Amino acid sequence: MGDQHESPPTSRQEGPNGREIMTSLDDGMERAVEALIDEVTETQPQAFPDPSGLRGRVAIVTGGSSGIGRAIALELARCGAHIGFCFLDDGGPSRRAAQTVAGELRQAEVRTYFRACDVRESRDVRAFVAEVHSELGGIHILVNNAGIGRDRALWRMEDHEWEAVVRTNLDGAFFFTRAVAPFMRAQEYGKIVNITSVHGIRVEFGLANYAASKAGLIGLTRSAAVELGSKNINVNAVAPGYIRTTRLTAGVPPEILDQAREESALGRLGDPQDVAGAVLFLVSEAARHITGAVLPVDGGYLL
Ligand code: NDP
Repeated sequence: MGDQHESPPTSRQEGPNGREIMTSLDDGMERAVEALIDEVTETQPQAFPDPSGLRGRVAIVTGGSSGIGRAIALELARCGAHIGFCFLDDGGPSRRAAQTVAGELRQAEVRTYFRACDVRESRDVRAFVAEVHSELGGIHILVNNAGIGRDRALWRMEDHEWEAVVRTNLDGAFFFTRAVAPFMRAQEYGKIVNITSVHGIRVEFGLANYAASKAGLIGLTRSAAVELGSKNINVNAVAPGYIRTTRLTAGVPPEILDQAREESALGRLGDPQDVAGAVLFLVSEAARHITGAVLPVDGGYLL
């Protein structure tokens, strides 16, 4: 039974030397076999022509003026992406920091657009996205990085402390994702990376607002991956553990950082560059088949 194959129907035709040759009646079947052979060839590992695929792309990095956002913006620029970034601008130092980052980006010889834009303000977010599109000539990548913490035991937490954190870390990412979606859908290409946290997965005392916002961001990541996937848009999240040298970590008591270090398999805290490397991977063509994933960058803290 197993070796009784049905042959395709054939007809007899005269070849150039007068001999009869057999031709398949079913050209469609021949084409299907050829396509199958081509497909088999393509399963061989192929080098990506441009491993990052970022040259000439346009990326938005929210909160790009400081810490992790700055490292991400510089890393993407190093690979040739033009960068639009925003910051909160809560005073002179913040504006000066943004100007410094813009100068660093220009040294990478990419175009850059930046201004204060509060991610909690949905109308301003739409305006910012439209400006980046017209100033830099497209929108291909979005990194929702802007984030804050206001830690306190939940029974003492004020309304404004809850709202500030959830509106910045979660609403802001939603507003930006919604604003870039029409551009990415129309061009059938997009990469979105949300910077969540290990605290969106494993909670600690005093972080109810932060943990809720970051867990919500994981839910947003998965929902967006499902809703945008059919238009070739990848949506993923990176979950950093404690990262040294950023403003956010400056407010964390040293004993908590020591404990985090001890609990990490690698026995150390991360740097902003560690997060930037993970983002670079997720927006590159090497990660084209990854979506809806949450990648911990935590030295093994969650293990
Ligand atoms: P920083 O405080 O160094 O930088 C935060 C950035 O976000 C700044 O550019 C800031 O602008 C901007 N920002 C804050 N609020 C708003 C707002 N409402 N609208 C626009 N921009 C805003 O933080 P980190 O670099 O440490 O953190 C970056 C992200 O990484 C955050 O989402 C954080 O939750 C996450 N993360 C950080 C970890 C860490 O250990 N540092 C660990 C896990 C996750 P401005 O300077 O004007 O205020």
